[in-house]
Amino acid sequence: MTPTHEGRNYIAGEWVASASGRTFDRRNPADQDDLVGVFPDSTAADSADAVSAVADAAPAWGRVPAPERALVLQRAADILERRADELAVELVREEGKTLAEATAETRRTPQNLRFYAGEALRIAGDSFPSEGQGAVYTTREPVGVVGAVTPWNFPLNIPSRKLGPALAAGNGVVYKPSPVSPLLGQRLVEALLEAGLAPGAIALVQGGAEAGAAVVGDHRVGAVTFTGSTETGRRIHSAVGPSRRCQLEMGGKNPVLVLPDADLDRATALIVKGAFGLSGQACTGTSRVLVHESVHDRLVELLAAAADSLTVGPGLGDGVDMGPLAADFQLRKTLDYVAIGCKEGAEPVAGAQRPAGPGTDRGFFVRPTVFTGCTTDMRIVREEIFGPVIAVQRFGTFEEALTLANDSDYGLAAGIVTRDLNRALEFARSSKNGLVKINQPTTGMGMTVPFGGLKESSTQTFKEQAGNSMMMFYTQEKSVYISALS
Ligand code: NAD
Repeated sequence: MTPTHEGRNYIAGEWVASASGRTFDRRNPADQDDLVGVFPDSTAADSADAVSAVADAAPAWGRVPAPERALVLQRAADILERRADELAVELVREEGKTLAEATAETRRTPQNLRFYAGEALRIAGDSFPSEGQGAVYTTREPVGVVGAVTPWNFPLNIPSRKLGPALAAGNGVVYKPSPVSPLLGQRLVEALLEAGLAPGAIALVQGGAEAGAAVVGDHRVGAVTFTGSTETGRRIHSAVGPSRRCQLEMGGKNPVLVLPDADLDRATALIVKGAFGLSGQACTGTSRVLVHESVHDRLVELLAAAADSLTVGPGLGDGVDMGPLAADFQLRKTLDYVAIGCKEGAEPVAGAQRPAGPGTDRGFFVRPTVFTGCTTDMRIVREEIFGPVIAVQRFGTFEEALTLANDSDYGLAAGIVTRDLNRALEFARSSKNGLVKINQPTTGMGMTVPFGGLKESSTQTFKEQAGNSMMMFYTQEKSVYISALS
């Protein structure tokens, strides 16, 4: 029998319940009879306590020498690596991804922490020619208290890209994970504490919008880092206001162009990986396919066959390609969009239904879905579904394809499949997206490469992952002028 966890907040060095006594349940999305844990449903008052505790302790953590801060991150990475296999199983149970997907995440997370441990040692200022007899130099200091609010789709990887650099720079962090993945949120904090992080330098506040809004709205929080939907991001942006730092990474509606010269098997494989990996719940997931009319029918045939061949089931099951959606609201939203697509006149050629049979009747499963006959005015083409649904549109000329691809409020990731390098590079130049993939899935990215979107996908205030950019976000620059007294 798998255990039911009793989750706690971590505030002022103690594991505590919400002062209100409120809790919420988290259940396995593949099997609603399996109660993963009971967690504090924190109130605004709990968040205020967490901010107070971190505000008190952050200055001392900021004075810890950088090599010691780096060592804490290195040790946390060691701990996470030792526990990678058990964490992967917990990740499948809590969030629903397949074991292979969970394993990739549990391997990447410690690497992120190691990367930022290195960055802790590279925080540097400049010196300038003095206009008088003295010296002028700049320092980079921690901001103080960072508020980190995260989604559930990468519950270790994404927070490690926020907590890692924030702590490396000497900030204290109030961390509010998603209520869909509270256990994994707690696991990351446990590893950091076990690694020797000063207990007051971090607070963990479990819960939903109330707890998150109280963290980001608190003026003692000097920098807010958020990853999640564009809708929530907009709210946070106005709550943070102009005088505090705010970094928002948000939704996407990511297209892949397939040119007439493309290897269609290759195109199919990378679209299927980008669209149905993580059950379509990656921010960079492929959700639009723009295909040249000369290869449209063949590609649709291949995509439908590939989608139909995927095995949908619980993430720990043998041979499972696609797990459940992470939550009931995710299933409802996906099914709603499938119905909207049909009503708008798009034709479903694969999926568009829930799987039948044992193993899937207690979870939030849906078959990977391919719509053809889509047009730009359709909601399934314009709005982020965040489920395993692709909308296929046909185009005649390359210029038309570029226009269609860029005709979106979002600007996160885009791909092209072609043998024509000139066309590919022209697409890379013209694409209004933060990430461009040539003959690769829209998902997946390098750990040290700048990551972030354009348009409604990001505030574009400092890219994630990029070492120096992240460290700039989590530090503030000060100019110091010195004159010696004679
Ligand atoms: P969400 O916006 O619903 O929630 C994200 C977090 O914000 C959660 O912790 C939630 O509790 C919290 N929250 C909700 N309301 C809040 C408020 N008013 N103030 C403060 N915090 C609040 O998103 P989600 O469902 O967790 O994640 C899915 C979304 O995240 C998708 O839109 C996806 O594209 C996006 N995403 C983006 C990236 C990226 O890097 N661009 C990566 C992963 C996911």
